[in-house]
Amino acid sequence: QLSDVRERHQQAAQELLPEHTDLYIGGEFVAADSGETFDTVDPTTGDVLASVARGDAADVDAAVDAAWTAFDETWSNYSAGRRQRVLTDIADTIEDHVDELARLESLDNGKPVSEAKIDVRGAAEQFRYFAGLVRENPGETMNAGSRYGQVIKEPYGVVGQVIPWNFPLLMASWKLAPALAGGNCSVLKPAEETPLSALRFAELVDDIVPDGVVNIVPGYGEEAGTAVTGHPDVRKVAFTGSTAVGKQVMKSAADTVTDVTLELGGKSPIVVFPDVSVGKAVALVKSAIFYNTGECCEAGSRLFVHEDVADDVLDGLVAAIDDMTIGDPLREETDLGPKVSAEQVDRTLDYLEKARDDGGQFLAGGDRPDDEALSAGCYVEPTLIEGLDHDSDAVQEEIFGPVLSVFRWDDYDEMIRLANDVEYGLAGGVITDDITQANTTARDIEAGYIWINSYHDLVPGLPFGGYKQSGIGRELGSETLDHYQQTKTINLSLR
Ligand code: NAD
Repeated sequence: QLSDVRERHQQAAQELLPEHTDLYIGGEFVAADSGETFDTVDPTTGDVLASVARGDAADVDAAVDAAWTAFDETWSNYSAGRRQRVLTDIADTIEDHVDELARLESLDNGKPVSEAKIDVRGAAEQFRYFAGLVRENPGETMNAGSRYGQVIKEPYGVVGQVIPWNFPLLMASWKLAPALAGGNCSVLKPAEETPLSALRFAELVDDIVPDGVVNIVPGYGEEAGTAVTGHPDVRKVAFTGSTAVGKQVMKSAADTVTDVTLELGGKSPIVVFPDVSVGKAVALVKSAIFYNTGECCEAGSRLFVHEDVADDVLDGLVAAIDDMTIGDPLREETDLGPKVSAEQVDRTLDYLEKARDDGGQFLAGGDRPDDEALSAGCYVEPTLIEGLDHDSDAVQEEIFGPVLSVFRWDDYDEMIRLANDVEYGLAGGVITDDITQANTTARDIEAGYIWINSYHDLVPGLPFGGYKQSGIGRELGSETLDHYQQTKTINLSLR
């Protein structure tokens, strides 16, 4: 019943909403300079959850100032051990609030609470992992002829970070943990669709993080986002979002020759070989595309299944889709929640319409679910489409929803050619028990991250990022620290 869902969400909102929905600048919660706010909406019920301060360029200026003050007066004077302690305390605090943060994330984003808990634990792990790297900064010394050289790493000072709505708290942690570990202060702009977990995070770490080291400026991309990424006093920009916006961010950074890292879109292939059990293939493919309602940059959204097992795998997928629990994301048993917004539903449905026009056959889904309890929410059915040309829009472009395009293959080289025939190169999946074949295919796919016999699990320490138009730079790995520090050479003449 929709009325039950509404009641559950209203109660949860009363319990979970952050006390402060203002900007977090210099350790204080403050209204936007303009006094403006924007609404963040619960995608399960369509109800407004909260009005949040709408930051713009004036607020970003204040946040950048606060961050430089914090850098000059506090953060850059902290010993590595003290910085490490801050990151570890943040990790502990997140872990102490897993259920609360997961339910808040689920309210604001619509993701199933069981998946939101994985995000929140992952956020804590980020801080713990980068806490461990804080001391790993010995620099180098060398004698070069009559010169004594020191090569040291220095923080940029203030970095600007802009994140999307699909993993709000997790993305904030991917940005903040390495920035802080590298010795920087941050101005972070959460997505306008999902600002709440970042604000609750600010409340939770307010006593741990020195004022101004982390600043959170919610707002729209064209107002607050451009102000962060184009700010002349921001020395490094890190952006996660769509490839289209990533290109604009890169262009605006050119004006100030600011270092940029970009984590952008994907259209990842998942390849099934004929030797594996159908059950294993079905479970992995299902998770690759439907986890987080398909709102994953790394989602396995193009399936290449070997002809010999194709009928069985597709039948298995249709049955697995039938078994999925589509519903209220606050309930533990829910597998698939709503998309983040009505706009994202329209975008997905437009692609389904195009796929229909292009001759796609729908093996499952293809519309909004026909269910009264879901009628107010931003739901789209899990969808399987076969028979599309590989160059059609629904295959080439990132739908960012629960939509899988299926291709059968028996010619390996042709399959690899198609798997690589997109502008993206973020990730890929290989499902086979033949370890040699798996490694060969992993090398043949043009992408920054390949899973063999798993999908989505991202482990701190293993770098994640894209080839081609999926991005520049890597997150999650020790090399991420290099993106947040610059190299200084000191050349001392010995004679
Ligand atoms: P988006 O690019 O529209 O927005 C992302 C963020 O950028 C938001 O905070 C938005 O307010 C801000 N923004 C928008 N326009 C801006 C501008 N001109 N200048 C500066 N900031 C601006 O993307 P989205 O629709 O919110 O998120 C979905 C996209 O993000 C998908 O394409 C997905 O693949 C991608 N994504 C990539 C990764 C990754 O790691 N590669 C992770 C998550 C999401």
